[in-house]
Amino acid sequence: MLKIRNMKLAVYGKGGIGKSTTSCNISIALAKRGKKVLQIGCDPKHDSTFTLTGFLIPTIIDTLQSKDYHYEDVWPEDVIYQGYGNVDCVEAGGPPAGAGCGGYVVGETVKLLKELNAFYEYDVILFDVLGDVVCGGFAAPLNYADYCIIVTDNGFDALFAANRIAASVREKARIHPLRLAGLIGNRTVKRDLIDKYVEACPMPVLEILPLIDDIRISRVKGQTLFSLSSSEHDSSLLYICDFYLNIADQLLTEPEGVVPRELSDKDLFTLLSDFYYTSGQTIGQNSDGFGKGNKNHETATSSEINFSVPDFFL
Ligand code: ADP
Ligand code: MG
Repeated sequence: MLKIRNMKLAVYGKGGIGKSTTSCNISIALAKRGKKVLQIGCDPKHDSTFTLTGFLIPTIIDTLQSKDYHYEDVWPEDVIYQGYGNVDCVEAGGPPAGAGCGGYVVGETVKLLKELNAFYEYDVILFDVLGDVVCGGFAAPLNYADYCIIVTDNGFDALFAANRIAASVREKARIHPLRLAGLIGNRTVKRDLIDKYVEACPMPVLEILPLIDDIRISRVKGQTLFSLSSSEHDSSLLYICDFYLNIADQLLTEPEGVVPRELSDKDLFTLLSDFYYTSGQTIGQNSDGFGKGNKNHETATSSEINFSVPDFFL
């Protein structure tokens, strides 16, 4: 077995793109490969680990507040909950809405886990991070991470967010040995825009997962694909688990990854809008196979894609 110790992963991507779903299933996949795994939810929504534990666990910030920030009064069992497949779970929680900083919350979380002698106890720690537009605060997990992983679909908005995250990785990599392990395409069968993007901004594509109703259902049931397939003895779900096992296996080889060179906004707009104009295709839901109309393959023409305006930058 590969001797991974203390590997830190940070999963980023546009809101609602599937970061938590992907994180939970990767965490279990890593645990299935014999690794001791901790998943830290770093989204004020604090639902990162919901499918691992089946409930919304108390957050670190709420727990610290209830103890007047006396770290010595907090016990591991107050904040670390065991989830499916022996994956340990923590929710950092959020700063008060409209005030405070996500970076502070992440900093407090790491500080407390160190106080509890938990931070170095794991083979893999996975940070699941809110990452639409990465401000300094929400980029904080990148200060601890060995690898960043970006979840995207095949549409402009998620790739725009991916490009911002790539810029944050490049910035943090100047002061810390951080690499971008690659992109995970989620909820998409099509990958033409993803391919176009990685051609211009080279980075690995670790996996492409289609829109799968069983994944949505697993979330509603408060379960991961692994727990669902075993509790319901449903071997038809195993092919979905294989996507996550494949990602875990790639990570466990400690891949080289990249320090990305993000595109300028102008180049990104031009690249993707040129692509829409010249490919002569009609576009269904940002070409990602997800969203309204997915079932009946509704399409929109390029003239309806209102970001196709490189003239903005002249
Ligand atoms: P995020 O953490 O990025 O905000 P979530 O992981 O909570 O996003 O996912 C948002 C929704 O999308 C959830 O209802 C989840 O079940 C669903 N989802 C995620 N990935 C897929 C997929 N590949 N196929 C179908 N539904 C998915
Ligand atoms: Mg989430």
